[in-house]
Amino acid sequence: MFAVEILNTERKEGGDQGLFTASIIITGGRPCGELDDFKLIKDLVQAFEQKGIAAAWGATRQAVDHGYAPYSRQIGQTGKTVRPKVYIAIAISGAIQHVSGMKDSEKIIAINQDRHSNIFNCADYGIVGNYLEIMPAIIKKVQAGFTFGLKAS
Ligand SMILES: Cc1cc2nc3c(=O)[nH]c(=O)nc-3n(C[C@H](O)[C@H](O)[C@H](O)COP(=O)(O)OP(=O)(O)OC[C@H]3O[C@@H](n4cnc5c(N)ncnc54)[C@H](O)[C@@H]3O)c2cc1C
Repeated sequence: MFAVEILNTERKEGGDQGLFTASIIITGGRPCGELDDFKLIKDLVQAFEQKGIAAAWGATRQAVDHGYAPYSRQIGQTGKTVRPKVYIAIAISGAIQHVSGMKDSEKIIAINQDRHSNIFNCADYGIVGNYLEIMPAIIKKVQAGFTFGLKAS
């Protein structure tokens, strides 16, 4: 026999995180956790939301395994399968286990500094470069009214 005392309870993020209803999903790979704690991704989500567009952010398994995002946001074979109108993959290598969870998105845009990265094989549009430099420009465009063709709901 032993007694258990609950010292503290902590509520973690759960549920679908809006990933099944979002028109646009912006997903970050492991570097987004290491380099800016997903800040630019969250800022872009907020910019879309301010335009009345349902947006959500996701993460790769590497990002989740490193503790940068909760499992409820993992996209891929062992996470969620999503099909938004627009999927933006930021600093994601494009491993098959990730691609299987997002390949049926209507439009896929990838940003990666490695032009040979596998993610470009499933992308409709690719931007080669450092996401830390590219994302602020995209956020400004969205704030100015560019919405990748998406309409406010
Ligand atoms: C059984 C099994 C199940 C799995 N299930 C899943 C799953 O559900 N979902 C999933 O995502 N993975 C899953 N994986 C893991 C998968 O194989 C990959 O390891 C993972 O997707 C890679 O994550 P990543 O792209 O974030 O990281 P990395 O492979 O480390 O790639 C990072 C990428 O970022 C680029 N980069 C780095 N810095 C910058 C920068 N500043 N600007 C722009 N680009 C940059 C690099 O060029 C690189 O392409 C699974 C694996 C196994 C074995």
